[in-house]
Amino acid sequence: MQSRKPPVYHHVYGPVPSKRLGRSLGVDLVPFKVCTYDCIYCQLGRTTEKSVEPRTYAGAEAICDELARKLSSGAPPDYISLAGSGEPTLNAGLGEVIEKIKGMTDIPLAVLTNGSLLWRDEVRAALAAADLVLPSLDAGDEAMFQRINRPHRDIFFERMIAGLNDFVLSYPGEVWLEVFLLADVTAMPSEIGKIDRLLQRIRPKRVQLNTVTRPPAEAFALAVSADQMEDVKGWFTGDVEIIGQEASGENRILQAGQSYDEIVSLLSRRPCTLEGIVSGLGLSSVEALKHLDALIRMGLVTVVRRQNGLFYRTTVCK
Ligand code: SF4
Repeated sequence: MQSRKPPVYHHVYGPVPSKRLGRSLGVDLVPFKVCTYDCIYCQLGRTTEKSVEPRTYAGAEAICDELARKLSSGAPPDYISLAGSGEPTLNAGLGEVIEKIKGMTDIPLAVLTNGSLLWRDEVRAALAAADLVLPSLDAGDEAMFQRINRPHRDIFFERMIAGLNDFVLSYPGEVWLEVFLLADVTAMPSEIGKIDRLLQRIRPKRVQLNTVTRPPAEAFALAVSADQMEDVKGWFTGDVEIIGQEASGENRILQAGQSYDEIVSLLSRRPCTLEGIVSGLGLSSVEALKHLDALIRMGLVTVVRRQNGLFYRTTVCK
């Protein structure tokens, strides 16, 4: 008897366990590392296409067809999230995708964005129908913005802040802002003071602090320790929360029907970058990272940093 092949998904992945969104069914709107930024802490590696030009990378119809198939095949997720391998607001069809998804399901829809293009009217209009938007703000001034986020040359700090401000004022849903902190860079009272003053002006519904938990694009992007995160939390004047580490058991959600063997087998042939694993196995970057987290915890995979990027290799001899 012939075994049935699992359905192929190009844009939809998961559900994956998310620290902020519970069981999150992801939708990737842009190809790997198409982004307006090239953050030194990016867990996907260095940006390969830095752009501010929206393009139709994935059409609303194709995305919604996949989503409908996925939703009919399992328990409903807590959120559908537009996120993934780059900056979703670079997809010119963002508004149409959001509208179509809202028309097909009541599951809340979240968009994870770096917030760099919120100064554009069309981006704010496209996001208006989403239930939740999660932008980020990692720096308190232009110099730090350039140092951490390494934005496209057309993106300036004041313009980005003005866009974020306008968006929070006009958006009917909730905005949860992430501040990604780096040791010896922003985790110090003077830098937090600058970010805090901006937050008092922007006033998002929630402010969530995060730091490095996976190998970053640059070796000098260092994690803030758990103790220091608590100190930093106290330097903000408003309410902020620390996004906790994922519990190791959360990876169990991913294990059903998926095999770590494929990753180990690929890596036993040669060490690979995240992009190599993603394209070699047809996984989304988010799924691949979650699997790699588990394999690293199990001691089956290690990470090596070379001049041309981060490489994963297996400790298992085949
Ligand atoms: S962390 Fe996000 S915003 Fe920064 S480079 Fe990576 S994908 Fe882009």
